[in-house]
Amino acid sequence: MLEKKKRETTPLYLQILLGMIAGIAIGIIALHFTKGVQFTQHWIYPWGKIFIRLLQLIAIPLVFISLVKGVLGLKDIGKFSRIGGRTIVIYICTTVIAVLLGVSMGLLIKPGKLVDKTQIIHIQEDYQSIASEKKLEAEQAHNQGPLAFLDDIVPNNFFKAASDNSKMLQIIFFAVFFGIAALTILPVKVKPVLDLFDGLNDIILRMVDYIIRFAPVGVAALMAGLLTDFKGDLSIFSALGVYFLTVIAALFILILFFYPLLIRCFTSMNVKKFMKAMYPVQLFAFTTSSSAATLPVTMEAVEKDLEVSQETAGFVLPVGVTINMDGTSCYQAIAVLFIAQVLGIDLSLMQILIIIGMTVLSSIGTPGIPGGSYVILTMVLTSVGIPAEGLALILGIDRPLDMLRTSVNVTGDAVVATIIDKK
Ligand code: ASP
Repeated sequence: MLEKKKRETTPLYLQILLGMIAGIAIGIIALHFTKGVQFTQHWIYPWGKIFIRLLQLIAIPLVFISLVKGVLGLKDIGKFSRIGGRTIVIYICTTVIAVLLGVSMGLLIKPGKLVDKTQIIHIQEDYQSIASEKKLEAEQAHNQGPLAFLDDIVPNNFFKAASDNSKMLQIIFFAVFFGIAALTILPVKVKPVLDLFDGLNDIILRMVDYIIRFAPVGVAALMAGLLTDFKGDLSIFSALGVYFLTVIAALFILILFFYPLLIRCFTSMNVKKFMKAMYPVQLFAFTTSSSAATLPVTMEAVEKDLEVSQETAGFVLPVGVTINMDGTSCYQAIAVLFIAQVLGIDLSLMQILIIIGMTVLSSIGTPGIPGGSYVILTMVLTSVGIPAEGLALILGIDRPLDMLRTSVNVTGDAVVATIIDKK
């Protein structure tokens, strides 16, 4: 591990940014040669597609294993029902509000609409035809009655659900069901399963780590491919700039307005005291981009500075790292809308509702590690028929956003711990 750290000279996020710049350069150069575009599409773009496929490959095991592990972590069902129910309801409410904020900002500002339509009409047509199939499916389901959505949640065959990346809700359903059932079995019997899932979780996270290490190459290849697709149209970059600012604005609204409001309304704590205690935690989250790595720092601040009882903090915060990611879900909503807008995919109301539901639930399966949302984003995109390759557009500039959303994620966990403790 130490040896690996020594060898690593350029941080990964810089490598990804360099990958993006290299990809743009390759794309621009390719457009100037007669066979350049064909060469890029045949020899370079496929590496990007492999990167996306690897992210998609790991998505189902990651969601399944991390969720089962999360539910098993609730240990005894008694504890789960005492403060667990309340914690989970508040977590879900804050996540829904964060997603609604993201969707509203994405729809209001429409950063993806800034691309020059005349230049990219051909690729928009390609992507629209892929998306219209899903749009039709969503509308058909809607016409089948108000409870038709349950068909999408309750699978009739685990393996069928696990073999289709757009069936994430069904996997979530099975994982939670499995985990809750396991909680009711004698601990000695479940212990080997717990150990197994612990081990599997570590292996999957290591695989995610390897895949993310491949990101600089993947992003370079995808960017080169997309640029030739976009015929070198650079209006995409002004769109990207506005997307970047939209995400930052939304995250700041959560940190500066939404959380202080919750503290003021639902606790007797002074908002200033809360913010002061959170500052070092947010800074740690910002620098590490990992809410899981920040957990010990969050615990200490919440217990010592906010005087939340050890019992509450010890339960609410670790659960929060797994299931509560307000910053991530708000960002995911804006990212999905942005990619759809750039690719010219007009989303129906039904698809937007699916995006809201999926982002709320998918933030539960997102691991609290740098870039943890990439894997999950591929699934959300696939579920509404948006090509996962669109992810290439946003990965190059993602690190600062990851840092900021991680700070929001840990603040959200601390807010809920404070609310639960004060009730
Ligand atoms: N880095 C985030 C976290 O650890 C997850 C993500 O949004 O990628 O909370």
